[in-house]
Amino acid sequence: RAKEMGNNNFQFYTREMNASVEEKLVLLEGLRGALDDGQFHLLYQPKVDLRSGLIFGVEALIRWEHPEHGVVSPMRFIGLAEESGLIVAIGDWVLHTACRQNKAWQDAGLAPVTMSVNVSPRQFEEKRLIDRVAAALRESALPAAALELEVTESLIMRDLAQSVGKMRELKAMGISLSIDDFGTGYSSLSALKSFPISTLKIDKSFVRELADNSDDQAIAMAVISLGHMLNLRVIAEGVETEQQCTFLRDNDCDEMQGYLFSRPVPAEQIALLLEEQARMQAGCDSAGRPLF
Ligand code: C2E
Ligand code: MG
Ligand code: MG
Ligand code: MG
Repeated sequence: RAKEMGNNNFQFYTREMNASVEEKLVLLEGLRGALDDGQFHLLYQPKVDLRSGLIFGVEALIRWEHPEHGVVSPMRFIGLAEESGLIVAIGDWVLHTACRQNKAWQDAGLAPVTMSVNVSPRQFEEKRLIDRVAAALRESALPAAALELEVTESLIMRDLAQSVGKMRELKAMGISLSIDDFGTGYSSLSALKSFPISTLKIDKSFVRELADNSDDQAIAMAVISLGHMLNLRVIAEGVETEQQCTFLRDNDCDEMQGYLFSRPVPAEQIALLLEEQARMQAGCDSAGRPLF
């Protein structure tokens, strides 16, 4: 009977799921050599202070340029990298590249920004995480205060005690931590209170309809006041419209990130944005002539 079922299941499986399983296998195969082949690069998305309007940080976002399939979204390959364990090496590359880039901007005399790097569960749980982060800082000579790691609630909750221990070590090194996609996981308030973090990031699913969905408005306001009561800064991700931005500013959100200000862009674009910002602050146009 099990065999009959098995047969039926197999037919169902091949008919309905072949494409995605096949896709997974093809991507996984490609992923193995992608790092050595130099197929990854990072884009950077500005994080903006809602009061001053100034860029204070950037988030590093990985892109994979597949030789046959073109640019593959991290949504499609981070999970595979995670399952296969390749994420540890890929994550290491991201950390080193992002730290080196931030140091290069600093060395070029640009206004200092915080570099935020996403860390996935397997990478976070790996024994040598602390050593790996320390090595990236040492190798790049980037001050620890210029690095932030973004982790998710579900990652932390997998082993609360161990996660909090690691987070405390990272914090002691001078690195800041933020909770990404806040509101989509399920950490208890007592757990949240014990996280040594500095920022909550409101997930973009609550921002998308912020202009006209009163439930999302209530959630955003609740996260902002919760964060402030816990002495945390609150950033909203996925801000695409002026209305969303105005709502967030009116409700005392601290920071924002989204297409409204800038999409994720190559490093050279960030340098241009920071230069332009410095000129604006100094009251000059792009040719160095006074604006007023
Ligand atoms: P995330 O960390 O929550 O990053 C935010 C995602 O929202 C990014 O997608 C970003 O491009 C996108 N985004 C930014 N502004 C807007 C907006 O205004 N509207 C909309 N609709 N989307 C916006 P991306 O780059 O495709 O990355 C997806 C996810 O992949 C990230 O979500 C993160 O979880 C993961 N990821 C990306 N890079 C890395 C990495 O280097 N390491 C690890 N472990 N995960 C990464
Ligand atoms: Mg993130
Ligand atoms: Mg996020
Ligand atoms: Mg997200």
